[in-house]
Amino acid sequence: MSNFSNIAVIGAGIVGASIAFHLARRGAKVTLIDAGGPGKRSAVQPATAVSFAWMNARDKNPRHYHLFNRRSVDMWARFVERLGIPQSATWGGELRWASTDDGAREIVKRAGVLQSWGYPIRLLNGEMVEALEPRLKPGVVTAASYTDIEGHADTGAVVGACVERLKEWGADILFQTHVTGLARSGSDISAVVTDRGEIACDAVVLAGGADTVSLAAMAEVDVPMYYTFGCTILTEPVPPVFENVSVVHSPRDCPPQTNFRQLPNGSVMLHGGAHGRVYDGGSLGQDDREVQRVVNAVARFLPAIEGVPVREVRRGRRPIPEDGHPILGFSQRVPNLYLSVTHSGVTLAPLIGECAAIEILDGARIDFLRHYRLDRFLR
Ligand SMILES: Cc1cc2nc3c(=O)[nH]c(=O)nc-3n(C[C@H](O)[C@H](O)[C@H](O)COP(=O)(O)OP(=O)(O)OC[C@H]3O[C@@H](n4cnc5c(N)ncnc54)[C@H](O)[C@@H]3O)c2cc1C
Repeated sequence: MSNFSNIAVIGAGIVGASIAFHLARRGAKVTLIDAGGPGKRSAVQPATAVSFAWMNARDKNPRHYHLFNRRSVDMWARFVERLGIPQSATWGGELRWASTDDGAREIVKRAGVLQSWGYPIRLLNGEMVEALEPRLKPGVVTAASYTDIEGHADTGAVVGACVERLKEWGADILFQTHVTGLARSGSDISAVVTDRGEIACDAVVLAGGADTVSLAAMAEVDVPMYYTFGCTILTEPVPPVFENVSVVHSPRDCPPQTNFRQLPNGSVMLHGGAHGRVYDGGSLGQDDREVQRVVNAVARFLPAIEGVPVREVRRGRRPIPEDGHPILGFSQRVPNLYLSVTHSGVTLAPLIGECAAIEILDGARIDFLRHYRLDRFLR
C-alpha cells in the first residue's frame, strides 16, 4: 500500500480519464482537472479528440513495446465493457496492401517478424483482398496483410463514460479549469494551483498530452518530448463501406499515405500524412485544398466516399516522448508526481490506467514499465 489516496489527475484526454477511472474504481479520492471539457472547442484540439484511434500493435518496435501495445489491445474489450459502452470499440482488424515489389517485400518482412512474436497477422493476395472487402478498389496488389484482432475506438464516448463513472463514485470533475502551477512542500507537491483556486492533494498525475512539458516544468521536471501536428477528416455518413475489416491503410509505397475507418454513425474518418517532426502535409487541415487532396486520395480506393461532403476537420498535436516510447511512472525528483505521456495513447489507455493505479495505490513498481521511466533520458 502507498500513502496516496487523494489524487489530482491533470488532463482528461483518454490517458488521464483512464487513469482517473482506474484509481477511483479502486476507491481513491480523485479530482480530474482539464482546461477544456464539454462545450469547449478550439482550432487545435487535444490529441484524444483528433485521434485516428486505431488500437494496434502492428508497427510497434522493439519487441517489448510491441508486447506492451498488444497487451493493451487485448484489454480494450474489457475496458469498454466495464465502462458500460461495449459498442464504442469497433473490431474487425486492419488491412493494408502494397502495389510495388518493394512494398510487397516490406509487408512480407513485417508479417514474418510479427508472426514470430505470436501476432495474428496474415498475408493475402489481391483476390483475397477483394473477397474480404468487395467495396474497396485496391488496384494493383503485390502483397497484403490483415491483422484481425485490431480495431478502433470512439474516444469521445470512452472519455465521457469515464467521467460519468467518476461522478457516480464521487470524484470531483473540474473542467474549464486551467492548471497554472504546482505548490510544493519540500520535494513533494502539496496542491495543484488553478485559475479557479488551489486543490490540495497527496499525489498528482500529469496526463497533459503535448502540454506535459510545460506542466512538468511547473515542478521543475524536464520531460523530453516533442509533438507533431496531425489532422483527421470526417465525412457525412454513408452506408456501410466494410464487410469485415475496421481499419484500412492505403499502400505505403503509393503516396499520399492515407488511413480510413468508418464510425458506427456512418461517417468515414480519413487521416493522411506521416509522423515526422513536421506538420502533416504542410498546411493539411487548414486549407480546403489539402483536405480535398486527402479525400480524393482515399476515394481512389473507396469510391463510396466520392462526392460525399466533409462534415468536420480536426487538428491536434501528437504528444511524442523524445525516443517515441511512453514516459510512465513517478518522478525521482518529485516523489508524488506521476507522469503519463505517450503517443499511441488510445491503444495504451486501458493498460496505462491499470498500471498507474497499481503503482500509485499499491506502491508497487511494475517490472515491464522499466523501459518507460523518465530516468532513461538521464543515462
Ligand atoms: C492525428 C492523430 C492520430 C492519432 N492516431 C492514433 C491511433 O491511430 N492510435 C493510437 O493509439 N493513438 C493515436 N494517436 C495518439 C493518441 O491520440 C494520443 O497518444 C492520445 O490521445 C494522448 O492522450 P492524452 O490523454 O495523453 O492527451 P490529450 O488527449 O492531448 O489530453 C491532454 C489534456 O490535458 C489538458 N491540459 C493540458 N494542459 C493543461 C493545463 N495547463 N490545465 C488543465 N488541463 C490541461 C488538455 O486540455 C487535454 O484535454 C493519434 C494522435 C493524433 C493527433
